Amino acid sequence: MKRSSQYDVAVVGAGIVGLSIAYTAAQQNKRVIVFEKNPKAAGASVRNFGMLWPIGQPHGGNRNRALASRAIWKKITTEAGIWMVENGSLHLAYHDDEMQVLEEFVQSESDNKSLNLITPKEVDQYNSIVKKEGLKGALWSDTEMLVDPREAIEKLPEFLQKKYKVEFHFGTAITHVDGKYLYSFDNQWIAKEVYVCSGSDFEILYPDVFKNTEITKCKLQMMRGEIPNEKKHMGASLCAGLTLRHYASFAQCPTLKEVVARYDKENILYKKYGIHVLLSQNGNGEFSIGDSHEYGWEMMPFDKTEINELILNYLHSFTNLQNIKITERWNGVYPKLSGQSFLIEKPQPEVTIVNALGGAGMTLSFGLAAEIFTKNLV
Ligand SMILES: Cc1cc2nc3c(=O)[nH]c(=O)nc-3n(C[C@H](O)[C@H](O)[C@H](O)COP(=O)(O)OP(=O)(O)OC[C@H]3O[C@@H](n4cnc5c(N)ncnc54)[C@H](O)[C@@H]3O)c2cc1C
Repeated sequence: MKRSSQYDVAVVGAGIVGLSIAYTAAQQNKRVIVFEKNPKAAGASVRNFGMLWPIGQPHGGNRNRALASRAIWKKITTEAGIWMVENGSLHLAYHDDEMQVLEEFVQSESDNKSLNLITPKEVDQYNSIVKKEGLKGALWSDTEMLVDPREAIEKLPEFLQKKYKVEFHFGTAITHVDGKYLYSFDNQWIAKEVYVCSGSDFEILYPDVFKNTEITKCKLQMMRGEIPNEKKHMGASLCAGLTLRHYASFAQCPTLKEVVARYDKENILYKKYGIHVLLSQNGNGEFSIGDSHEYGWEMMPFDKTEINELILNYLHSFTNLQNIKITERWNGVYPKLSGQSFLIEKPQPEVTIVNALGGAGMTLSFGLAAEIFTKNLV
């Protein structure tokens, strides 16, 4: 067994959480090593929309964290030559109760200058594919941003390696961590600080920590689509009424309960499968469409056609994408901790577990990593 020299920081997992930790540590001139069990990261971080979505985070701590992350994403994508677009978002209202929720939301955030309620006529300025029939209005927000997760998660390690000499070991599963010692099946490393960012594979390292929490898993179904021979960017990322009940930021709006009751009456499967529909588009003009939310420890790999049909039908209710050709279907899994936005635990003095950023890892990770190195969040 070879004994390597000591590192300042070792990170297990090269998803967005591990990469954010590696970036933050490297910026502090620490000697960093990252381990990823797959030849390329293939977890939730490459399966998402690539949406950096501050508007979904409640006003205060997480919104600020999301905005801090956004600033870091902007800097790092520019430096690393990673595609990104500051395209903002539109929440579309096709019912009076949805419009009322949007108005209540804007009123509750009167100091937020990035929000603007717009008329159906004004929507064209922001997005070219919104369905106008029945549209009551929309909420424009300029803080949302997009990256292409597949590109970003592949290029970030190259950038960190080149600029900060971060050492990456892909295809290396860490099978055991004990304080400052990390072990693979045939090697051992030493680091002053170890960060375990193992995403939904949390049963392997420090399983006892996870067993003692309210953690569960969430499976999401996604699709990719394109309009043949058309690569034009649509503009703002889109969502509509179902999204209002998904994000905590809208929870305080009094009329939300009416929206929820109406959708439950219309089709209870929206609730059963946790469906709300978001639409993003990458630099090649390809759309990411999703998603659903099925919770539990038993994550079966099989996708449900019924869920994809519900998602696509709802997509067609707010877009003019009749010609969309679905080119890929997949699912992703993330850990979720009931009532919390993330899990940070220190099972040993040298070891920090960072996990369970739920559906907001792309949005929150860089900001959270910055705080981990400057504040005591444990
Ligand atoms: C379908 C879907 C859509 C989403 N959309 C968005 C979105 O648009 N915006 C947003 O903000 N968030 C979104 N999210 C949430 C976001 O993707 C996650 O919060 C985030 O990717 C979690 O990152 P992670 O690094 O914790 O996990 P992962 O990306 O799963 O990374 C963990 C990594 O650790 C590796 N690993 C595990 N154990 C070991 C070990 N023992 N040794 C070595 N390597 C190990 C794994 O192989 C994996 O690569 C979405 C999630 C899904 C599933």
